[in-house]
Amino acid sequence: MTAFCHYHPISPAKWRCRDCQRNYCKACLPGANERTRRCQCPRCNHSLQFLGAANTAIPFWERLPAFFQYPLAKAPLALVGICTVAPLLISSQLLAFIVTLTLLCVMTKYLYSILDNTAEGHMNPPTLVSAFSSEGLNTLFQQIGVFIIFGLIILGASQAGGQLLGWLATAFVLLVLPASVMSLARERTIISAINPLQLTLLISTLGWPYFVLYAHLMLLFLSMGVAVDFLIEHSSAMLAGVGAGFINGYFTIIAFHMLGYVLFQYQEKLGYATTDQQNDDETNVLANRAGRIDADIDLYLKEGEYQHVKQLVAGELKKKKDDPWRMEQLYRICDAQGDITSLKPFIIQLLDTLLVRNQPEQAITLLKKLYLEDEEFALKDAVVSFKMAQFAYHQHEYKLVVRLLKDFHSRFPDANNITDAYILLARTLANGLRLKDKAQAYLRFLIQQFPDYPSIDALREMEQTIARGGRI
Ligand SMILES: [Zn+2]
Ligand SMILES: [Zn+2]
Repeated sequence: MTAFCHYHPISPAKWRCRDCQRNYCKACLPGANERTRRCQCPRCNHSLQFLGAANTAIPFWERLPAFFQYPLAKAPLALVGICTVAPLLISSQLLAFIVTLTLLCVMTKYLYSILDNTAEGHMNPPTLVSAFSSEGLNTLFQQIGVFIIFGLIILGASQAGGQLLGWLATAFVLLVLPASVMSLARERTIISAINPLQLTLLISTLGWPYFVLYAHLMLLFLSMGVAVDFLIEHSSAMLAGVGAGFINGYFTIIAFHMLGYVLFQYQEKLGYATTDQQNDDETNVLANRAGRIDADIDLYLKEGEYQHVKQLVAGELKKKKDDPWRMEQLYRICDAQGDITSLKPFIIQLLDTLLVRNQPEQAITLLKKLYLEDEEFALKDAVVSFKMAQFAYHQHEYKLVVRLLKDFHSRFPDANNITDAYILLARTLANGLRLKDKAQAYLRFLIQQFPDYPSIDALREMEQTIARGGRI
């Protein structure tokens, strides 16, 4: 049964921590190395158990269209073409026989590389090089040996025990044939491919899916027979020969791909684990630090360990101050928890981010909470303080403006927006809080301190307007 990720319940698990009793999927472990099967548990740092690609493999009966598409690639089509057409082009019967035999060997070798390749998790057909190389010739002779032995068993049985025993032996051989091919592909010995105990063990380990596979193979070969018969009856000998060659090749390739897939799907049950080659690139892309941090954040959030999440994000923000994505993560979690203190070290960037995103209401709410919590708290940035004060003024948050701009010139002696800040403060005091004297005091201070201010006359005018009781 497929095991699922503890944190992503619809994703099949790839790794398991025996200590934490947790399963993890690919997304949880972006740095996992499936080739070396090495990965540490993000919770306890112990080594994880690799569950194999089998856990994420789709059952073979659910991917039938993919099986039928498999032989339609260049390499298998070319090989089937060569095997079918080449013997027909040779006039000498002896030569045609030799060529046919050689091509049969080449085809068998190719079928075994399909099986091996699929069992290792490659879902694309192997290249033709594997069919024509001398490597793996052993398997070919072993397969021939296995067929001879099976033939002898049937012959022996019918001679010793009559027709009934002959039929029974044939039925047994047919039933174990797929298991025998799989055994040979895995162990590369004739004994493993004919040993009734080993074959029975393989079948019982696979259980009912073996019989599902068997039924599929039977249907495949039956359809192959029907199609070939149809061609022979309804077309010329030449066309029937070519057609039959293609049909046989096509269906046999599907059968071997299917056998390989069953080994791949049940690798864990059968006692070996391979990597899912199809997704390797994806793994490499994900194998970066940022991915690990995101996965950790996800994990801790799901565990309800919010303090841990905050520490992680804050750590990242200390390294890269202008990371809006991390800023947003920290803001969201602290805001949801009502934890303002954790936001303090990053308040300037955070307010700036909120203002850039056109969320001044949120920035103002946050700042008000901070001021309420800490009487002494003051922003340490002249530009952000002034920007916040502007928004606060437009929202009639006059007390907030006063707090933001209080002692501006002594807090930021080098700032170039002191005049702007105090004009805004004077307007707030005069228009919003009706504190005429204080507003006038600020304007007078500006006139004294900045005699070169280009709009100094405007400042004087403002002061007079206030004195007359007007709005500035
Ligand atoms: Zn997961
Ligand atoms: Zn663990």
